Amino acid sequence: MRTTLDFLLHDWLQLATLLQRPRFAEHALDTYAQVLDTCERIAREKFAPANRTADTQEPRFDGERVHLPEATHAALAAYVESGMLAAAQDYGLGGMQLPCVVEMAANAFFSRASVGLAAYGLVTTGNANLLMAHGTPAQREVFAKPQFAGRWFGTMCLSEPQAGSSLSDVAARAIPDEAPGGAADGDRPWQHDPLGPRYRLRGHKMWISGGEHELTENIVHLVLAKIPGPDGRLVPGVKGISLFIVPKWLVDAQGELTGARNDVALAGLNHKLGYRGTSNALLNFGEGRFPVDGQAGAVGWRVGAPGEGLRCMFHMMNEARIGVGLGAVMLGFAGYEQSLAYARQRTQGRPLTGAGKDATQPPVPLIAHADVKRMLLAQKAYVEGGLALALYCARLVDEQHTGQAAAAAEAATLLEVLTPIAKSWPSEWGLEANSLAIQVLGGYGYTRDFMVEQYWRDNRLNMIHEGTHGIQALDLLGRKVVMNGGAGLKLLAARIAATAERAGQVEGLAEHGNALAGALQRLGAATKSAWATGVPEEALANATPYLQAFGHVVVAWLWLDVALAARGHALQPGKQAALRYFYAYELPKIDAWLGVVARREALPREMQDGWF
Ligand SMILES: Cc1cc2nc3c(=O)[nH]c(=O)nc-3n(C[C@H](O)[C@H](O)[C@H](O)COP(=O)(O)OP(=O)(O)OC[C@H]3O[C@@H](n4cnc5c(N)ncnc54)[C@H](O)[C@@H]3O)c2cc1C
Repeated sequence: MRTTLDFLLHDWLQLATLLQRPRFAEHALDTYAQVLDTCERIAREKFAPANRTADTQEPRFDGERVHLPEATHAALAAYVESGMLAAAQDYGLGGMQLPCVVEMAANAFFSRASVGLAAYGLVTTGNANLLMAHGTPAQREVFAKPQFAGRWFGTMCLSEPQAGSSLSDVAARAIPDEAPGGAADGDRPWQHDPLGPRYRLRGHKMWISGGEHELTENIVHLVLAKIPGPDGRLVPGVKGISLFIVPKWLVDAQGELTGARNDVALAGLNHKLGYRGTSNALLNFGEGRFPVDGQAGAVGWRVGAPGEGLRCMFHMMNEARIGVGLGAVMLGFAGYEQSLAYARQRTQGRPLTGAGKDATQPPVPLIAHADVKRMLLAQKAYVEGGLALALYCARLVDEQHTGQAAAAAEAATLLEVLTPIAKSWPSEWGLEANSLAIQVLGGYGYTRDFMVEQYWRDNRLNMIHEGTHGIQALDLLGRKVVMNGGAGLKLLAARIAATAERAGQVEGLAEHGNALAGALQRLGAATKSAWATGVPEEALANATPYLQAFGHVVVAWLWLDVALAARGHALQPGKQAALRYFYAYELPKIDAWLGVVARREALPREMQDGWF
């Protein structure tokens, strides 16, 4: 994986060009290599050995405390020590000002070694980044800094038992906390708390990753809740949602722990298929289990303006979703590498022809069989293609933040259309890669003697969280490809067409260039047909096949672009073979997917409940 990662970063994405930007002026390519080396080493030494333990000894709640294996504590301590929590932050904050693409590449090693352990760090960085973008100076100082230092970890509390995909239905309530100043007076003291407007929260949050543990001395929950209107009712829709900082342990204005517990109680842990290293909690806010100043209600400080909660929460959505996609890629990679090693070592059967017909001849390694090579090729095409996709998008994030105005705007527009793909494509095909890895190992792959079954279980989450597959599809076809007159789709199409045209001049790649140009044309035509009647129900009934086709066209494009960059490189034969695989076995699938999209296939809409 490292060889491919280095090739993609340097030979394909030209990482060196970032060094000319003022923000990265003090870096050198060596700096980046050292960061990658260190993360690769810590992941290998601390995360990988703990991965199975974290899975088999899943988090346990004894009614008072959550217990995690010692190996989890040691792995996370090593991660904190690595400095990766603050890696992208300014030097002034103790960060390294790493570009997003390098930060993500470095974190990828941890996801490959143990995605369930890596999650604590990723969600903590996401929480602290959000506070840096939307918090007051005091909120940044008190709540973001300790997270960058790894003294405290964070969570993101959006989902509720009855509100998952539809966050507009969150029912958690936040009311101004009149308690500190006694009765509400003319000064409204709750508004003048040094840490921000102070509220009391009540409600339930479901599926909270890292929601309870004793890895750190405090946990900073970022919670979506609604502030009731003057009539006491919650404002319907997303406009009513605000965002609050709710620490597990209360702090004073200087950020010192007061020793008092906030009114956040663990109702129970979820017992999951995979990702078991990460504790996952149902949290009760404000039920009176830990009264504050004698009153029920979890104390929370508002971040941003009332009603702006979802906007603040989704500010970092592109990065978070690219991160989920990259995690799915890494699980795919882990399975690919293990099944490849296994196929080289395990012997079974004989070739179909020649000496193979002689049963006295020794058996050959699995990798000698064409069908096994086909399964390995599929995995290679999925995981290396997914890695290219994630890194390309991360590089766009850097362009958006540090590029010249026009390039930055273009990157932002491209990210709008590419983010649903960066999240969903690896989640689906990384999982398929894991399934194929199990298949390569045969019966052994189905046992717990090998890791491939755990990778599959871990990866199964990625089509569900951070917006399900279906929700990503609705976002892509319902919003992203039509927004601003289809500006994002046009920009993307121009980039795809440019690659197809370049390939057209190159022997051995010209036919792929033609195939890509044709696929792009059919994708554009299907997009138009889907919206031909302008009726969202008709267009969107087949949004998921559209997402799948769109993803395959994007990855076909990236494979061709990568193959162009690989000419003359030692990796060329492998990249060329994966390209051939993708164009021969995968790209033709888009016609089935686009067929139902283009004719606005009505079956999913017309199907009646009673017919099932
Ligand atoms: C292990 C794990 C970790 C998680 N971590 C966190 C976390 O840290 N913080 C947090 O806030 N949440 C977290 N989540 C919650 C996660 O984001 C939700 O599970 C997800 O948003 C889906 O919500 P739901 O489970 O209620 O499913 P539902 O919303 O009930 O969806 C069920 C199915 O119906 C489909 N569906 C729903 N609505 C529509 C629609 N309008 N049109 C078409 N199809 C639709 C969905 O695509 C899905 O296939 C986590 C979940 C899991 C399993």
